Amino acid sequence: MNVYLIEVIIFLISVLLVTIILDMKKIHKLSIALPILFLIFIAVITGTYILERPTLEISNQPISLEIGQATSIQIPYTTYHMKDVTSSVTVTGDVDYNKIGSYHIQYEVPTITGIYAIEQIVNIVDKTPPTITLKGDKDFNLSYSATYEEPGYVVYDNSSEDLSSKVHIDQENINDTEYNIVYSVEDSAGNKTIERRKVHIIDDVAPTIKLNGSASMSILLNSTYTEKGATATDEMDGNLTDKIEISGKVNTSKVGEYSIIYKVSDQAGNKVQKTRKVTVYEEKVTESHQTPNTTPTQNSDGNNTGIIYLTFDDGPSSSITPKILDILKKKNVKATFFILNYSSSLEYLVKREYNEGHSIGIHGYSHTYSEIYTSDEAFMNNITKLQDKIKKTIGYAPTIIRFPGGSSNTVSKKYSTGIMTRLTKKVLDNGFKYYDWNVSAGDAGGASTSTQVYNNVTKNLKKNRSNVVLMHDFGGNKKTLNALSDIIDYGLKNGYTFKTITMDTPMVTHNVNN
Ligand code: ZN
Repeated sequence: MNVYLIEVIIFLISVLLVTIILDMKKIHKLSIALPILFLIFIAVITGTYILERPTLEISNQPISLEIGQATSIQIPYTTYHMKDVTSSVTVTGDVDYNKIGSYHIQYEVPTITGIYAIEQIVNIVDKTPPTITLKGDKDFNLSYSATYEEPGYVVYDNSSEDLSSKVHIDQENINDTEYNIVYSVEDSAGNKTIERRKVHIIDDVAPTIKLNGSASMSILLNSTYTEKGATATDEMDGNLTDKIEISGKVNTSKVGEYSIIYKVSDQAGNKVQKTRKVTVYEEKVTESHQTPNTTPTQNSDGNNTGIIYLTFDDGPSSSITPKILDILKKKNVKATFFILNYSSSLEYLVKREYNEGHSIGIHGYSHTYSEIYTSDEAFMNNITKLQDKIKKTIGYAPTIIRFPGGSSNTVSKKYSTGIMTRLTKKVLDNGFKYYDWNVSAGDAGGASTSTQVYNNVTKNLKKNRSNVVLMHDFGGNKKTLNALSDIIDYGLKNGYTFKTITMDTPMVTHNVNN
């Protein structure tokens, strides 16, 4: 009820009572007792009013404030004599809002009788956990071969406490390829925070393949190539040898370079491959040496100016023969090619040799000593088989030959004793002429550079004879290719004449050793 209304009612009752008392006194002559009682009543009412306390809307519980968040105390709603006096309330007592603790403050309200004060406890508490902010990705891939490097983190606590040295980092395994890095921290008020970073272990490293045997091997023509295989291991998948795929073939019946490719991939798809180079070569016993020590039969063409017969054995080859022909054409020099069997794709080279004025001779359908020197018949067949083929290619059947290994070879002894003695007669009886050499480029053996080829040829040329120069145009023989121009220039400059070997050319032969 409104205080003014009460005051008005009391006042009106008082006036009414005074009036009644005065009237009754006049009428009944009443004693003084009643007015005294009335005055006591008035005094009590007035005293109550004066002594009334303000009312503050506060709880009897302490106030709890989160550390670092508040900066002042909220003044409670306060009434005094039924009026809002909140704005006149003041607070005394210090509170450190950034420090955990229990603080006593007082609300002070001015009243008629002076300052009315009421105590309040304020607790500054920390109930907020710290925060951990991870630097870098929260979810990332890591190569199994790499070392985990912590990208770092920032830890913050509302209490301004430095927790950076209090973060615990643990690893929590999920499965074989995933784990969590767990960051945990606790502030001094006991609030905990946990953050996780997920790491996926990935396999981005290819397996390794190890070849059994040599990665670069040479085998003799017509021998057997035995696949030795390879082993493969992967750090993640272990032994992958069974999964190696081998491709490529070695044609042991054809001179050349072959590649065997070994491929393997691991479960994650990382691939690796290795190559084995297999060179199929033919034995070159005599040809790989310098001119034999036996004195070659030297035939003179009847002049002393010096003649050079450039001869190329073991062709044609797609890589070398066309370039040799180009050089000969440019220098306008003719030469002699003692050829081996050739595939249809190389027919054009035989035709070109012939059409450009060079001489074509027979070296043999096969160059394999173990086949051609087993018998007289085998050798003769080896010559005529190629002769027939050449005739089909160019319409002309050559009758000049060069023995594989030369007529002085001793390798044939292994297959047939005395065969060279017989063959050197037999070929003549069959209308052939054979030509050995008296200058060797050494390009199938000793010479490893074009300079050596050049020196081997030019230092052995002699003016007073026919110089039959042994060279080779088999595939890859770049040292001869690179020396050829200079050899020709040397010959021309020194007054030599270049000629091709024909049936009219006197034979240049070695001494027979078998
Ligand atoms: Zn040869």
